[in-house]
Amino acid sequence: MKDFSKSEALFERACRHIPGGVNSPVRAFKSVGKNPLYIDHGVGGHVVDIDGNEFVDYISSWGPLILGHANPVIQEAIREELAKGTSYGACNAREVEMAELISSFFPSVEKVRMVNSGTEATMSAIRLARGYTGRDKFIKFDGCYHGHSDSFLINAGSGLATFGTSGSAGVTAHTAEDTLVAIYNDIESVERLLKQFDRQVAAVILEPIMGNMGLIPPQPGFLKALRELTEREGVLLIFDEVISGFRAAKGGAQELYGVRPDLTCLGKIIGGGLPVGAFGGKVEIMDLLSPNGPVYQAGTLSGNPLAMAAGIAMLKQLSAPDFYERLEERSTAFEAAIRPVIDRYPEQLSFNRVGSLCTIFFKPGGVKMNNDAKQSDTKRYAVYFREMLEQGIYLPPSQFECIFISLAHTEEDFIHTATAMEKALAKALQ
Ligand SMILES: *Cc1c(COP(=O)(O)O)cnc(C)c1O
Repeated sequence: MKDFSKSEALFERACRHIPGGVNSPVRAFKSVGKNPLYIDHGVGGHVVDIDGNEFVDYISSWGPLILGHANPVIQEAIREELAKGTSYGACNAREVEMAELISSFFPSVEKVRMVNSGTEATMSAIRLARGYTGRDKFIKFDGCYHGHSDSFLINAGSGLATFGTSGSAGVTAHTAEDTLVAIYNDIESVERLLKQFDRQVAAVILEPIMGNMGLIPPQPGFLKALRELTEREGVLLIFDEVISGFRAAKGGAQELYGVRPDLTCLGKIIGGGLPVGAFGGKVEIMDLLSPNGPVYQAGTLSGNPLAMAAGIAMLKQLSAPDFYERLEERSTAFEAAIRPVIDRYPEQLSFNRVGSLCTIFFKPGGVKMNNDAKQSDTKRYAVYFREMLEQGIYLPPSQFECIFISLAHTEEDFIHTATAMEKALAKALQ
């Protein structure tokens, strides 16, 4: 058994002064019945906790670390910028370089505004869509996560076309009323809402590749149909590419599936491990932002030079001509290593992968819809998670989060993972 005593002691201290002991809920390990680990440092595809246990890390900071931990080029860029200062609350050259880089990855992003998190990006994009269209409501999809601002913390009701009800206390009924909830991969659910709320819907927002219910890819034609439908109805289409941006392809899911949204939200990878988000899109929409236009949006630390330096150093490495081929090669190698183990349990498991994102669902028969994912056996996942941790593999502490492959993961990591899985699945599925 691994010794987690230092983490246990620190968690006890944390719980005295931090709600639930954590600064973001999924870190709490609650759904897998354990206390969290405290990470001391990361190196490549591995993390080491304060008890000295080393793990192959498949969380990758929930996405940002596509090059692995402690990437030397990013570290050097931060060090160089740090020597000059940390923040000015004034313009700096890095912001301009960053905006140009983002547009070179995403042709649909003609203009872009930097923020400090994915939450800020989606929140601002919705405000902008409302300002542009003069409409109040928007459509999201059951199971898509867009950060924690009020209007997004809405679940589907049981009906097909229904007003959202909030999944969080503290969100007013009035706010929830303006969030309509559709079913991912079901274009008719969107058509029905647009008909029912004729000319009241400002935007449809979604993760083009769903990554917050575990990994659920868009069904063929779904994104294209959404594009056509929204265009016809004068509704903005917003892609939340906070996970898929810079990951699914150089130009994100919009490049991979050939669909051009009106607005795009970015985060995670874009900060190179520092807190950064961005939203951008068509000039005529973006120019409605203050100080050019009437939609207010601001940030004391937005475009922060240290964060920009880290992000630029990240994006420049992703610009290498063969980067996405190498990432796909890593991801294919991962699947090749674990496939034979998964395939022993066709009555119990399903596996989804798009590039370097994947999920093993504890549910047989495939996962195409959010409702399929919801049927997963989370109790067995918890057993599996704990056993994997014991064997040195650090997985997402929830069935409903993706595994993030990075370029720093090695063949050796994958073999270690497959061997650990044999044992852990035997235990979890007995
Ligand atoms: C993580 C995430 C967000 C929120 O980003 P934060 O930086 O955590 O605020 C928004 N959308 C998606 C798709 C995400 O995965």
